Amino acid sequence: MGRFDGRVAVITGAARGIGFGCATRFAEEGARVAVVDLDEAAAAEAAAKLPGGQHLGVGANVADRPSVEAAFERIVGELGGVHILMNNAGITRDNLLFKMTDDDWDLVMDVHLKGAFLMCQAAQKHMVEQKYGKIINVSSTSALGNRGQANYAAAKMGIQGFTRTLAKELSPFGINTNAIAPGFIVTEMTDQTAARLKMDVEEFRKLNADHNPVKRVGYPEDIAAAAAFLASDEASYITGQTLYVDGGATL
Ligand code: NAP
Repeated sequence: MGRFDGRVAVITGAARGIGFGCATRFAEEGARVAVVDLDEAAAAEAAAKLPGGQHLGVGANVADRPSVEAAFERIVGELGGVHILMNNAGITRDNLLFKMTDDDWDLVMDVHLKGAFLMCQAAQKHMVEQKYGKIINVSSTSALGNRGQANYAAAKMGIQGFTRTLAKELSPFGINTNAIAPGFIVTEMTDQTAARLKMDVEEFRKLNADHNPVKRVGYPEDIAAAAAFLASDEASYITGQTLYVDGGATL
């Protein structure tokens, strides 16, 4: 018996990285998973790699209302509902404030904040009706401030306020909303940051490992373990919280 037997988990940005790690964990514990990502083929390929039953890859842009609505219609039609939503899709457009363009700002706000807003709005219709739901939004340690990330830090702290507000609105309907704020996690996103800083990937990982008291980098599995707990019924008295999963980097 898995903790998520009979549940449908929708995870955005799940074709790779943290999202794929979480999709794998939810699938291992019995969920049917909708892998939502920008590229339909990549989403389908990732869904096909998941262990167990019936999963679905859906190409959708989380920042676009018609795209989100069409994705939910497909997910509910093909997988039969939505019980868990993890808003994980994300991008970075790092730059110092004086060089940051309107596009850098707008794109980051759109994907992280508008994306989470549209996905939650679409999901809550089903969750409120069934009086059950688990929403997990992905914030970041960068929410606390990070040089070169004014856009990303603002969006990721915005996610925390959004999460607390949804917890107040939706918890009376049996829907828990929480956030996870990862520290440094090994994915293409952090490898691309190393490339942008013209640093060797291993050297960049070591630098980040040295930066926290646990003295190692994080992996998608670290976030997946926290997400699985927050999405489980063991966490039903936890709502509106942001859990930092960062090896103590923000202590
Ligand atoms: P990643 O490897 O870059 O994966 C992100 C995925 O999101 C990609 O597959 C990407 O698709 C997809 N995506 C981007 N824009 C989208 C959109 N508009 N609609 C649907 N999908 C979209 O990133 P990651 O490192 O796994 O990060 C996942 C989440 O964790 C993000 O929210 C990130 O901000 C957060 N986070 C990461 C770290 C870290 O150290 N890695 C730390 C703190 C927080 P394309 O490839 O097609 O663009």
